[in-house]
Parts: sequence; C-alpha cells; structure tokens
Amino acid sequence: MGSSASDRKLAEAVAWSSAVSLDRVSLAASMLWFAADVGIGRLRGSSCPNCDAAPGRSSRLYAGRFHAFSVYRCHECAVLYRPVGIRGKWLDLYYSRLYANADLATDLERAGDPAGISARMAAEGKHRVALVEGVLGERASPPSLCIVGCSWGYELLPFRERGYDVFGIEVGSVRREHGKRKLGLSIYATPEEAAAERGRVDVALSSHMLEHVPRVTDLVKAITYRLAPSVQVHITPYVDSVETDPSLARIIGREHPLGITAEFWRRFAANNGQHLDCRVDAYEPGRACGELVAVLRAPTAPPRPPITRAA
Ligand SMILES: [Zn+2]
Repeated sequence: MGSSASDRKLAEAVAWSSAVSLDRVSLAASMLWFAADVGIGRLRGSSCPNCDAAPGRSSRLYAGRFHAFSVYRCHECAVLYRPVGIRGKWLDLYYSRLYANADLATDLERAGDPAGISARMAAEGKHRVALVEGVLGERASPPSLCIVGCSWGYELLPFRERGYDVFGIEVGSVRREHGKRKLGLSIYATPEEAAAERGRVDVALSSHMLEHVPRVTDLVKAITYRLAPSVQVHITPYVDSVETDPSLARIIGREHPLGITAEFWRRFAANNGQHLDCRVDAYEPGRACGELVAVLRAPTAPPRPPITRAA
C-alpha cells in the first residue's frame, strides 16, 4: 500500500473516530457492548476475568443493578471485577473504534496542537515526570522509558523533552497510528512487538490503563519478562477500601472491568520475584478515589538511590 493511500485511510479513520466521539451513537454502541460483555460474563459463571477462578460464596461484595454493576473480589489473584465476557482480539476493536470518552486519551484532534497538550495534561493530572523521577532518584543520564497504554502518545512528550528515550504500547490501532504519524513517536501494538524492536527498557509506566485490561497478570508478565524493566510504575484508581467506602464500587463498571488492589500487587511481586512499594495518593473517603501507585523493582536493579524530587 502506497503512503498516500495509507495516509488517506488513516485520515478517514481519525475523522470517523473523532466524529463518532461527538455522537450519541458512540455512547449507545459502547452501552450495547457493555451489556453483551456483562451478559456473556454472567453466562460464564462470573468467573475472574484475570485468572478464571470461579467466585466463592463471599466473593460478591456488591450486587449492583441487574447484576451489571456487581463487584466481586477474586480469592486467587485479588483483583476486584465485574462479569466480563469479551476478550482477546475483540478488545482491539473496542479500543480502536468504540472507546471515545476518556478526555485527552481519545481526543485525537489535540495531537495537532502541541501547545495545548501540556495545559490539558496539567488540567487532567496527567503529567507524570515528577512522580517517575521521584521513584527513580538521581541518574547519570536519562533512562529509556516505555508507557504501556499510551493512546496517541501525549504522556510520552514531557519525557521526550527531558531527554528520555521513549516509546509506547497501544492496542488501539487508530490512536497508535495517529501518534506515530503526527508526533513521530514509536508506538507498538504489544510488549512482544516492542521488545523485538527495542530490546529491554529501563522504566515501564502505565497510568489509568491496567483497570481496563481483563488479563492484567498476562500483560504485566509480558512487560516484566519481555521488556525486563529495572523499575515499573503502575498507577490505577485506588479501590482497596471498597468494603468500607461504597463510593469506590462505582469505579468498577462499564469502563473499568477491574479494580487493581495492593494485594494483587503483593501476590504478583511475590510470584514474579519483584520488590514492591505501594502507596495511595489523593484518596478522600466518599469523595475522591485517588490513585494506587505500585512500584515494582527487578531483583537485579542496583540499590535504590536517595529519592529526590524533579526540578
Ligand atoms: Zn483472579
């Protein structure tokens, strides 16, 4: 396929995606998708989408309306979840064509407005340089960094400006191609593809992404073993207090089939030889869910340097 033909195809896809994002058709389609997802999940016994464990008698924490918003806790892998039936390649379709209401992550027109990106990121709390550099401490030179679930790559830009060797991973083909063409970024479809092209990476970061992924252990294992980062930083909505704070149950639903808990990370770290630090940022009971920040360090990583804040 010639580049002009593929450019045209991409432009059409972006225009289609942008137009749909403004349309109620998008919301209706994603509601239908959600109903099918929950329906098939219930037919499969509401087993854990991550590890397939059947729910135990005390697994369901909240019944939810029509069981669509039931929240379960997996006794095997410790994620919170709602019934999930659609997996694999179908998720590519969802995140390429239907997923359209995540602010900057799905606003492709912003990619043509670099000056506006930084302000919008600040407004949505998406600047992660200070957090990552606080975790890394002082370094002789900027590390290589991969953002898992990078959408069209806006979160990579502040790291690139600071001299990091950056690349991203994004399952949604329209956003992935947009970031590659418009911003000149390297964005791959899977950790396997990224590893084949780039080898290992110093730092892997994900921000509000893992709670969308039904097979989250498989994904984090692929990152851990294929990209072999010394440090991983994974940021997800904080859900651990769901049994005492019912407002947190709302986080698990249509957009987030999973809630990632600190116990999930403890088990993952123990099973995969990683050192774990977890902390909770900005949680206000009943009001703001805040974020769980999980930092995994590979066993061969050098001793942790003193923590310093970014300038
Ligand atoms: Zn499980």
